[in-house]
Amino acid sequence: MTREKRFETEVIHNGYDSLNYHGSLVPPLFQTSTFTFPTAEEGEKRFAGETEGYIYSRLGNPTVKVLEDKVAALEKAEAALAFGSGMAAVSAVLFYLTKSGDHILCSEGIYGCTFGLLQLMEKKHNIGHSLISFDKEESVRAAIRDNTACIYIETPINPTMKLVDLEMTVRIAKEYGIPVVVDNTFCSPYLQRPLELGCDYVLHSATKYIGGHGDVVAGLLAGRKEPLAEIAMTTLKDIGGIISPFDAWLLLRGLKTLPVRLDRHCDNAERVARLLKEHSQVKKVYFPGDPDFSQYQLAKKQMKRPGGMISFEVKGTKADAQKFLNHCHLIKIAVSLGDAETLIQHPATMTHSVVPEAERVKMGITDTLIRLSVGLEAWEDIWGDLKQALDTYQPTSLHQA
Ligand SMILES: *Cc1c(COP(=O)(O)O)cnc(C)c1O
Repeated sequence: MTREKRFETEVIHNGYDSLNYHGSLVPPLFQTSTFTFPTAEEGEKRFAGETEGYIYSRLGNPTVKVLEDKVAALEKAEAALAFGSGMAAVSAVLFYLTKSGDHILCSEGIYGCTFGLLQLMEKKHNIGHSLISFDKEESVRAAIRDNTACIYIETPINPTMKLVDLEMTVRIAKEYGIPVVVDNTFCSPYLQRPLELGCDYVLHSATKYIGGHGDVVAGLLAGRKEPLAEIAMTTLKDIGGIISPFDAWLLLRGLKTLPVRLDRHCDNAERVARLLKEHSQVKKVYFPGDPDFSQYQLAKKQMKRPGGMISFEVKGTKADAQKFLNHCHLIKIAVSLGDAETLIQHPATMTHSVVPEAERVKMGITDTLIRLSVGLEAWEDIWGDLKQALDTYQPTSLHQA
């Protein structure tokens, strides 16, 4: 079902026609592992791909299909696939695109477990990678090798908030005929649509903004029909990182309010970032919506709004950063992001603790960097909690000075 309505309308209506489901306003939950065949001959035809119809939920499920169709429409993709986690989507696309001896070119500063996966691919399957800054066109060109099988980027990069210029990346990749994969988790399709700019695959940890309520772990991948059909029948079906129908149903529920929620996340983050910048215990704020942010113009060009994620440096040491976190009360200390609750975490010891220190520091993840996922509470209360924590944690280095 294709509609050419605005995003806010499509997110509610696209991909589902209630009249096909007894008029059920909400997509039904097909909580079943398998599907019965009316006859043995029909079973044979379904397995042979001669007739349409469901077989077994690892191969496809009607609730999951509604989600996939909706996400494809939102990303302006030909097709989409749902996975049991963001990492299942990352691994499915990377294993699909590479073979032993290949090389993956990545943006410097990627999700911690993606980094872990790349290490595993290198060690066990001889698939190498380089992590480079995508700041300069020359350095991207210089890093492309004969065996580069794909470019894998995040933008904004977790947790430094650095951006990768998607238009520039696509221009270079097209010259070399290399597919571009974008982890669009921090933006969701409401804020950024890499496929519209010519990227080949876009993926999400749907655990974050798309689910939006902190109650499901899931992943999504969108792109062209043919490769996605192949992924569905190989690295999704056979490795088996499928989503459960119930989790797909929860994502369908979460998706309806995605634009409303994200606008509020962005409004709150804009206010909080401004106030953080003015606080004497904050050394630096990294937020794409800050006019002083080094890539502010790029953010305006490729993102609808700056998003709900802020990173900032507090004064002091690693222990001081931890002390500051312990002084937050309304704001919860937790990894993950995009939930209604404002969440705060310490990347150096949490999400990015698997990254070796030298690599970590090169990425800009210092011991005093804090990542904040600004939630949906009243901004006055979010700021109130941050302010009292900043006012009271008392960095030791100040006393040493
Ligand atoms: C959380 C996250 C992932 C991994 O997703 P899971 O759903 O936790 O498997 C990948 N990329 C980014 C940017 C993330 O924030």
